[in-house]
Amino acid sequence: MAATALYVFQKGFNYSQDGAGNRLVYHLRGCNLRCPWCSNPEGMDFARPGDAAVTTEDLVARALRSKPMFFDGGGVTFTGGEATCQFEGLKEALTALKEAGLNTCLETNGTSPRLPELFPLVDELIMDFKHYDSEKHRAVIGTGNEVIAANLKEAFARHPDLLVRTPLIGGFNAAEEDNARFIRFYRTQPTQHARFELLLYHEFGRDKWAQCGKVYTVRNAFVQEDVRKRYEAAMRDAGLTVVRT
Ligand code: SF4
Repeated sequence: MAATALYVFQKGFNYSQDGAGNRLVYHLRGCNLRCPWCSNPEGMDFARPGDAAVTTEDLVARALRSKPMFFDGGGVTFTGGEATCQFEGLKEALTALKEAGLNTCLETNGTSPRLPELFPLVDELIMDFKHYDSEKHRAVIGTGNEVIAANLKEAFARHPDLLVRTPLIGGFNAAEEDNARFIRFYRTQPTQHARFELLLYHEFGRDKWAQCGKVYTVRNAFVQEDVRKRYEAAMRDAGLTVVRT
């Protein structure tokens, strides 16, 4: 087995929010997007020489030791930052975990053109889909959504266990018309293996931005719970499977 190191800024157990059951979750360092509401700004920047790294061997050994903790269908999850920014190491780790018979989950922003290569190695795929309109996506996050939308279509068509997550951000993607447009797009896709989750904007990461020397610019982006309920109902009416994790 080769020994590509993965740069990690946080790891620990989490129940159900990062894939099924109780999971060992690795937050990989570095993200290629710059969402102004990001709740992990300390993980946005890429690794520098001397940063802590874990080899695939150590990661698999730790996961095997943790097996008794993987109850309710748990396993290992990679998230970030954006895990696919360390693509080779991620692929190697996922391959080794599957060979060891462990359940794997990947949480991704969907921007890697190579994402479909990982589909066979990932039992559960969690993909963000933040905006259906590429120009609005670019204006706020810095890149268009073309690759993300293409990967999402591939995942709808080919991945057997897909969770699509959309953070509802007031002033960005949370108007009634936005929900209708998301639904209109989803209805053109084969969504029978997909679940959908709407997340409410929160500011849990706000203080961390200052601690990282970054400026938090989001204002007035809260969305009310009754709005989320209404959007979820519209999605269910359109035949989509809506969940809360
Ligand atoms: S894609 Fe995720 S990790 Fe990257 S900036 Fe956006 S919210 Fe943060």
